[in-house]
This record gives sequence, structure tokens and C-alpha cells, in this order.
Amino acid sequence: MVRVAKEVAGDQCLVAGNLSLTWMYEPNSPSSVDRVRQTFDEQLKVQCEEGVDFIVGETFSWLGEALLWVERAKTTGLPVMVTICFENKDETAEGTTAATAKTLLDAGAYIVGMNCLRPPQHIPAPMEQMRQSVDGYLACQPVAYNTPKDKPDFTSLPEFPYALDPLQLTLKHMGDYALQAKEIGINYIGSCCGLVAMHVREMARVLGNSPPKAVSGKKAAPNQCQPTNITTMIM
Ligand SMILES: [Zn+2]
Repeated sequence: MVRVAKEVAGDQCLVAGNLSLTWMYEPNSPSSVDRVRQTFDEQLKVQCEEGVDFIVGETFSWLGEALLWVERAKTTGLPVMVTICFENKDETAEGTTAATAKTLLDAGAYIVGMNCLRPPQHIPAPMEQMRQSVDGYLACQPVAYNTPKDKPDFTSLPEFPYALDPLQLTLKHMGDYALQAKEIGINYIGSCCGLVAMHVREMARVLGNSPPKAVSGKKAAPNQCQPTNITTMIM
């Protein structure tokens, strides 16, 4: 995947390596921590050999696993990004709040933030708390599914995973979110599950980062492709 992404990006865009939670992390279990470290190292080696520009670890419900990610990712010497996710409560699995961002920055992450599980309407509050707790770069990557206030995590809904289509958010929803994220002071405005290319295009458009227009019979000049603060990750 990294190889394909690099071929497509050429010299116009940055390409990130990416890992997420391992499902093997258990707090207070040295053997589990060893397994997680080893798994991260194996995967980092494969992706870094392809020449990624930076590396992203995402969807960590456990702060402890996110910290292990930062520890292992830093050994590559590349800029490290890490995002945590909150399920139906505004806290990690250990019970820490969005102020957790400072812990991750202090551990050596270059960009910290949140991704997955929640749509834009249920992510600004913790992101604002994160913004108030740190001065560093922040990332925000919500899902594109509408969820109720009492069950913000889309994977907790009965529609998950095979009946989510009617819950998908519109282009306008995602465009409005992009503007709101900018207003909060988010530096890396992205998205996660349920998002499609048209959402990304709309988010880029409202942020004044429009993609090059297709010209009949001609390819857009490569230098028309602006560096973007938009990213999408689809699980
Ligand atoms: Zn996701």
C-alpha cells in the first residue's frame, strides 16, 4: 500500500506510513507490552523501507498503547503522529481525558489528536479541551456517520457494520466540520471511517484548498496540486 501511495503521490504530496491499535494490548501485562512493541517494530520496518515521509499511529483507545506507539515510532527518526479515540465516554480506556494530548506530546509525538468512532458533531468538545491543554500541532479525524448524543461511537449502533449507509453524512456536513475544526485551531484536518473522496474534495474546497480543475484533453499541471492539510483514512 505504501508503495502504491508513493507512486501516485510522486513528488507532489507527503506519504505517511500508518498503523493502528493491535488488539493485543493489556495494561499491567509485561508480556502483552512486549508483543505490542514487537508488532509495531515489525510493521514500522516494512513501511519505513518503502520511504515514508512521516508515520501515523491511530485509533488507540488505550493511552498506554498510544505511548508504546510513540516510543517505537520515534526510533525511526521520522516525524510521529498519534491519535486516540473515545468510545461513548469522553475518556480513554484508562479514564484519562483529552488533556492526554500533553502526555503524548511530552513523549515525543509531533502531532497528536483524535480519530475514528465519532462523527463531527461529537468530537469538537474533546478537541477543544485538547486545544486548550497544548500548544502543539493537533489532528482531528472524525467518522462520516451520524450518531446520537448518547451513543456517539458508531460501532456501538445496531446499524454497525452492515446498515450504516443511511447514516452517512452529507458533503455539507463534512465541509461545515472542516471549517469548525479550523476555527478550533486544528492543524491537521482529516477524517476516518465512512468518508469518501467527494467528502475530502468538499472539505478541501471550503478550506480554500481546491484540487486542480480538469482541462479538456489535458492533464492538470503537477504543480497545481497544492500541499494539503486534508487527509483521509478509511479503515
Ligand atoms: Zn475510522
